[in-house]
Amino acid sequence: MNVHEYQGKEVLKKFGVQVPNGYVAFNADEAVQAAQSLGGNLWVVKAQIHAGGRGKAGGVKLAKSLDEVREFANELIGKVLVTHQTGPEGKEVKRLLIEEGCPIEKEYYIGVVIDRSSNSVVLMGSEEGGTEIEEVAEKTPEKIFKEVVDPAVGLLPFQANRLANRINIPKDKIREAVKFMLALYKAFVEKDCALAEINPLVTTTDGRVMALDAKLNFDSNALYRQKDIVALRDLDEEDAKEIEASKYDLSYIALDGNIGCMVNGAGLAMATMDIIKHYNGDPANFLDVGGGATAEKVTEAFKIILSDEKVKGIFVNIFGGIMKCDVIADGVIQAAKQVELDRPLVVRLEGTNVELGKKMLNESGLAIVAADSMADGAQKIVELVK
Ligand code: ADP
Ligand code: MG
Repeated sequence: MNVHEYQGKEVLKKFGVQVPNGYVAFNADEAVQAAQSLGGNLWVVKAQIHAGGRGKAGGVKLAKSLDEVREFANELIGKVLVTHQTGPEGKEVKRLLIEEGCPIEKEYYIGVVIDRSSNSVVLMGSEEGGTEIEEVAEKTPEKIFKEVVDPAVGLLPFQANRLANRINIPKDKIREAVKFMLALYKAFVEKDCALAEINPLVTTTDGRVMALDAKLNFDSNALYRQKDIVALRDLDEEDAKEIEASKYDLSYIALDGNIGCMVNGAGLAMATMDIIKHYNGDPANFLDVGGGATAEKVTEAFKIILSDEKVKGIFVNIFGGIMKCDVIADGVIQAAKQVELDRPLVVRLEGTNVELGKKMLNESGLAIVAADSMADGAQKIVELVK
């Protein structure tokens, strides 16, 4: 689960991570009020969307007067911001962060990530801050340094110290940088983060070390014990279909392709996506209706798939073990009747009550293309959506 930058900074602040003072604003009046409360004569008006790359896209503006704060706030609120992370459709800005403008000396990158190759939490750092870390990794990988954390003892001060030195934090700010990294690591662990990325971390000309940006991602499997984090969820930023699916306890993830998939079991769902790809098709979603799905659940799943305009055809691939084929057939028929199925549908059923399921589908009057195997079904649906 992702949160906005301003929320991430509030979480980090509680752990002692230094961040600039700032307030969230939902309109221009609130933005001006926020700037007045902050005082000073330089403010940053920052679009709050769940995507990075806002600076380059015009979503981060430096204001030198309250009038400018108002002007930029008016400009940004309601604007659809397109960054390299939003996709071409962009994201509408509904919230702003009004922050004190900081006298930046130099920008760095600091990230805490879960590293699969070492099975550990890794602290990463680079003196190439402000730019995309993926780009640094590609062009100048020697400028990224890592410290692997032993989970039994946590991040040790000497490791943070070593990293701070390697990324060339000025000597007089090393102590502050070490404190920063230890606090960031503590927040990461205690809040069950999957990622905590500070890009940029800055040193300022008035001697501070702080996070000018914060991207936190939380492990969704741990949210049951992070109620304060769940409260930060912004449904406007999430895929409407995924929200709907979560209501019915369906594992659904929207993808970019045009073949809707309805499958039971995560393994079979993955295999189905693979075989569609193998035959040069593109899945529109990952969907696992689960083992104990009811006809109602299947109906809802079907409706969610069909609500996606990109979907040009549907492939139902079910192995009826715990889940029975006639229940699936019932759900498919009910859904198709409720939503007026106007796209090709290929069904491959196997397992418990398969004959009954097939008979129900045959007698339903729906235009269903039956498949004998996974490969057969995948080839058929790929052909039909062409
Ligand atoms: P994004 O990563 O989405 O582009 P950032 O929060 O990293 O957004 O902001 C982009 C750039 O704007 C930063 O690299 C920094 O140079 C500048 N910036 C951001 N916040 C401030 C601030 N409070 N004071 C001064 N400059 C800032
Ligand atoms: Mg950034």
